[in-house]
Amino acid sequence: MTEIIDGNAVAEGIREELTSCVESLASDDERPTLATVLMSPDPASETYVSMKQNDCEEIGIETRDVEIDLDAPASDLFETIDDLNADDDVNAILVQSPVPDHIDYREVLERIDPLKDVDAFHPENVGRLVAGYPRYKPCTPHGIQQLLAATDVETEGKDAVIVGRSRIVGKPMANLFIQKAPGGNATTTVCHSRTDDLASKTREADIVVGAAGVPELIDGSMLTEGTVVIDVGINRVDADNEKGYELVGDVDFESAKEKASAITPVPGGVGPMTRAMLLYNTVKATSLQTDIDVEL
Ligand code: NDP
Repeated sequence: MTEIIDGNAVAEGIREELTSCVESLASDDERPTLATVLMSPDPASETYVSMKQNDCEEIGIETRDVEIDLDAPASDLFETIDDLNADDDVNAILVQSPVPDHIDYREVLERIDPLKDVDAFHPENVGRLVAGYPRYKPCTPHGIQQLLAATDVETEGKDAVIVGRSRIVGKPMANLFIQKAPGGNATTTVCHSRTDDLASKTREADIVVGAAGVPELIDGSMLTEGTVVIDVGINRVDADNEKGYELVGDVDFESAKEKASAITPVPGGVGPMTRAMLLYNTVKATSLQTDIDVEL
């Protein structure tokens, strides 16, 4: 019987635990605050930001909402980040990507105070993760680690195959899987668009993480019986419905389910966990900045 991993339920459990951490910080007058900065040409970004703000408010995290005109100069964005870095009432900063073409996203990431960098994209935080002493773990791979733990999937000694090598998913996922730590100790292969014979790699895996952004790239024929399948992909494909599209993952759910011992659905798998781990990092950031211990 294949287990369908319920990301909404696991995320809800994490949110409940975080709610008491938030209350404990608030009782010391240190209620966490996340600042979101929106300067994105992608219409979906506005929705993502408001979802993140709602998530925060639901568990008692305060939010600051900064919006910058799309054609404003880069200096406006950098000054905003500088102000938020200097503001002791702001514990966490998130600049929604993508940013307009005239702005160098790398400069944006490097500008954010690493202690407030709850996406964990600043080179200092990336470096700490690679070196084996992460401060913040990037939200999506951290969420996947938590999902695997909640499903009692042991990673130690297992063969993990990640399909995708992006900065935000594939690479940090690999770094977490190879850590000498709980949720790590996996023998890890990272595949990408130049990988020869992808199916021969995924068939060797105990755990497959699909993070390529290619609809239904991984199907049941590419899996071995008993594999744990984590589908990160969120892809819009045309559909004959009111919206004109539907969301599908990087995994062909129906055929993969026939082989998998456990599998995440899309939606309702990794997505809610990514959101929950942003809250986690915001609480952690507040704890680190205030020296108030909370049970994380
Ligand atoms: P990117 O486009 O940044 O990276 C995709 C990666 O997949 C690249 O490394 C690329 O290889 C690789 N790839 C592309 N095509 C193939 C292929 N045919 N075979 C093997 N590898 C391939 O994507 P992201 O990592 O940002 O996102 C991946 C997916 O996850 C998207 O659908 C995105 O929407 C979703 N996502 C979901 C989140 C969630 O919370 N559920 C969070 C973040 C992303 P190369 O490097 O060679 O180009």
